[in-house]
Amino acid sequence: AQAALFQAQKMEAVGQLTGGVAHDFNNLLTIIVNSLDLLTRNTRDARDMRLIESAQRAAERGAKLTQQLLAFSRRQPLQPALHNPNTLIGGFEAILRRACGELVKLQLALAPRVRSISVDGPQFEAALLNLIVNARDAMPEGGSLRITTGNVTLGENGQTIAELKPGPYVSVTVADTGSGMAPEILDRVFEPFFTTKEIGKGTGLGLSQVYGFVTQSGGHIKVDSTPGQGTTITMLLPAQDNGEEAVEDEDGTERPIQD
Ligand code: ADP
Repeated sequence: AQAALFQAQKMEAVGQLTGGVAHDFNNLLTIIVNSLDLLTRNTRDARDMRLIESAQRAAERGAKLTQQLLAFSRRQPLQPALHNPNTLIGGFEAILRRACGELVKLQLALAPRVRSISVDGPQFEAALLNLIVNARDAMPEGGSLRITTGNVTLGENGQTIAELKPGPYVSVTVADTGSGMAPEILDRVFEPFFTTKEIGKGTGLGLSQVYGFVTQSGGHIKVDSTPGQGTTITMLLPAQDNGEEAVEDEDGTERPIQD
């Protein structure tokens, strides 16, 4: 509990500091991106075009970084809506597959009749992408990556988690067959800016975002890792009650119906 409190205070402090900078930076990036878009329309020269494109890629990377910083500093409040987790993952599958690259085999093991969860859709996707990118990076020579969903009922069959109320939850698990982590790394993974990746590759904010998303959604995150064997990360997210089914609107958002 002490460590969790320290973690929360640290995230708060770093969040306040970075949030303001990220916000202003994002505004500047918008100007850069818009100007580059305008330039591409009037440029005929192939060499100029390549320069513009490389500037666009750099700006995109910057935008991604500021998005991560903003999400993490909670300048963007979560906007929860009712979603079927399988539908969220399915709708995002192409991007996840691209993120995996050629060497990593992505398997989806989505439970049929999985409960609906009330989460911020884009933040759920961001969390999943962060987990996938980490798993991929832990398997430079390739391997397998499995995303599993399932229904979990806390309070039943003796299953409890100290900080969570008994009731229905959905588990979303990302398991890889990568490098795994030594205990001293595992202890620090949720620390903002903690990274073992080289400069320019890692920000150390991926798992901070995942942690913030899960805890603010009223859930719990668990990391199991064995050096040389792989890592399994499970997000437990509060779900709708059993008796409730949900139907989907066109935009993928669900509204509950009682049957
Ligand atoms: P980043 O990916 O930018 O380094 P993260 O917060 O996402 O930041 O991760 C922090 C660190 O945790 C990583 O640098 C890595 O050392 C370790 N890590 C996270 N996920 C995994 C994984 N699936 N396998 C091995 N190590 C991992």
